[in-house]
Amino acid sequence: MQIREEKRISCPYCSEVITVLLDTSVDEQHYTEDCSVCCQPIALDVIIDATAATEVYARQENE
Ligand SMILES: [Zn+2]
Repeated sequence: MQIREEKRISCPYCSEVITVLLDTSVDEQHYTEDCSVCCQPIALDVIIDATAATEVYARQENE
């Protein structure tokens, strides 16, 4: 079972597409990662559904 997966997201601040590395051994997680382009803190909501598909939602940390 693969526990790390790369996902591409669009930064909610600068709209650049960045790659984040997810730990898919956890069903649902919320954490903050700094954008590699603009260095602003992106709040990431990661949800693994029943079919093991990974959904990532990126939003501004203070929203
Ligand atoms: Zn950014």
